[in-house]
Amino acid sequence: MLGEGILKGLGETARNFVGSYVSAERLTTVQYPEERAPNIEATRDFPFLVYDGTDWEAGMRCVACQICEKECPPKCIYIVKSTDKKPDAFGKPQIYPARFDIDISVCMSCQICVEVCPFEAIKMDTEFELSTTDRFGDLLYDRKELSKSNEYYHRIHPTEAAEVDARLAEEKVKADAKAKAAAVAAAAKAAAPSVPNAVKPAVAAPEGDKQG
Ligand code: SF4
Ligand code: SF4
Repeated sequence: MLGEGILKGLGETARNFVGSYVSAERLTTVQYPEERAPNIEATRDFPFLVYDGTDWEAGMRCVACQICEKECPPKCIYIVKSTDKKPDAFGKPQIYPARFDIDISVCMSCQICVEVCPFEAIKMDTEFELSTTDRFGDLLYDRKELSKSNEYYHRIHPTEAAEVDARLAEEKVKADAKAKAAAVAAAAKAAAPSVPNAVKPAVAAPEGDKQG
């Protein structure tokens, strides 16, 4: 029929127009700030430093390797290494950041710092309500302001945090096994009787040199 396609198109347009007012899954506008849409797990804004346990300073995973500082495209990370060591997540004495600053006003949320960190120490936050009138005083975050617990990480990125925990647990098992094997080998070496050179048996002559 002539014009059938046009009528179908108009019908579809009308259906979508009315649906945008009544269809629950299409009513996506929320009256912010009174209402807030929940963050999806992949939401990311600015980085934070993860710590284990309850003490942010003692539990910091960061070992001040400075890889993130070098790789950050706009160079908004500033790290000063400590001159002493503290145990890392595996109990191994490590350097830690005596200073770790991120200028949030310069950060472009690229997540490169997260991707290059070998210690699962820096992750992306979902907090976005950071506006302030003091650009330098309030947006230059120090290590204490950047530190958030592993529990917080689990709350905002549960799937990713669970994967990270599993990976760290696996690495810890391997590290413990390696340390145990090294300790056993060292103990065996220490317990072995030392034979003075003077009483060591002479090297046996090759078979072909033996007489009779
Ligand atoms: S998210 Fe990107 S810009 Fe921001 S601190 Fe990390 S590497 Fe730098
Ligand atoms: S956050 Fe990660 S990459 Fe950056 S200094 Fe700390 S351990 Fe190294």
